[in-house]
Amino acid sequence: MALADLLPPERASIWSAFFKRAFSDGPFHASHSLTDGRVLELSFNRIVINGEIEGISVVGRFGRTENTPQLLVRSTSAWPIVQVDGTAQVPFAETCAMEAELSRAIASNELLLYYQPQIDRGRVVGVEALVRWRHPIRGVLSPAEFIPLAEETGLILPLGIWVLQAACAQLAAWAGKNYYEEIKIAVNISAYQAVQPDFVDSVLDALNTFGANPANLEIELTENTLVSNFEDVITKMTALKSLGVRFALDDFGTGYSSLSYLKRLPLDQLKIDQSFIRDLLVDVNSGAIAQTIISLGHAMGLSVIAEGVENEKQRGFLAAMGCHSIQGYLISPPLPVDAFERMLPTFVEAAVKDCG
Ligand code: C2E
Ligand code: MG
Ligand code: MG
Repeated sequence: MALADLLPPERASIWSAFFKRAFSDGPFHASHSLTDGRVLELSFNRIVINGEIEGISVVGRFGRTENTPQLLVRSTSAWPIVQVDGTAQVPFAETCAMEAELSRAIASNELLLYYQPQIDRGRVVGVEALVRWRHPIRGVLSPAEFIPLAEETGLILPLGIWVLQAACAQLAAWAGKNYYEEIKIAVNISAYQAVQPDFVDSVLDALNTFGANPANLEIELTENTLVSNFEDVITKMTALKSLGVRFALDDFGTGYSSLSYLKRLPLDQLKIDQSFIRDLLVDVNSGAIAQTIISLGHAMGLSVIAEGVENEKQRGFLAAMGCHSIQGYLISPPLPVDAFERMLPTFVEAAVKDCG
């Protein structure tokens, strides 16, 4: 019998999230930060269901102690609460609550995209779409506050589809409009999303649903996406590339940078990681790495963009090294779409000035 048949929908989704985690990779490991700063590590190796979902006993090991107490998960409160030896309460409930909230947020359009302009020699050539969560109580949340949870729980899949669809809807809304027509939208794709068998279909579905031009969609992958799935990801990239979709390698220089894989990837752009840009003027090594990435990218026929450009000195340094494509607070922070549209004329002016 499905959990949804036994419990009200809100509780059923929390419990099913719990089961999904518990049964995901054999024994279930979890670590939780306690309010006093200690980290509690749990390792469950057996789950016993007591009759009718009234309570669930989890028999397992308590990570850092010698003994093996019984863990009891009760369904009598609003959220599952894990009790260790009937005393310590593990904030598993909090994580579950956040997970359920995020799941609801994706379905009920609480997510939104911010856009950060990318400038190249007198033109606004693109924007990077950066997701935000408009939380009803906590305000606008940045990705660092919910993407890790989404990745851990698999919610990154519906979230990633939402982002692709929203970006394609925006491309369609801008199609045929002066200035906007040539603006590409770059979308960040998580490794877990890229390895799904239906990843290519989900991109095509988003493009087709809104009639968006594939040539204006750029997919940002990181080197880490490629580490263990190189052949699979390359096949998917090639399929999308043949339809005109562009690819950028994000945070370049911080991951698993093998030059032999780089030459096989159907890439359009390298994005120099912002850590090298931040230290450009203070650390000769960062400057040397940035210069190497620029030379390498250009020699391979790729465009190279610097992210995290915050001041004129960095821009000047990059221009002297042959990198004229920039993104960062110097031009603009990521903005909601209406603010971006209001500001676009000023970005165009700034870009033209920079060019001349
Ligand atoms: P990223 O793709 O490397 O995005 C660049 C991050 O740098 C963004 O942070 C952006 O706001 C920030 N940034 C831009 N210019 C500057 C600058 O001049 N200085 C500094 N210090 N920072 C700057 P944000 O929006 O918080 O996003 C963080 C990360 O979250 C992104 O890194 C990306 O990895 C992830 N992310 C964002 N949106 C999505 C999404 O839709 N899907 C997935 N899977 N990941 C996303
Ligand atoms: Mg990115
Ligand atoms: Mg980046």
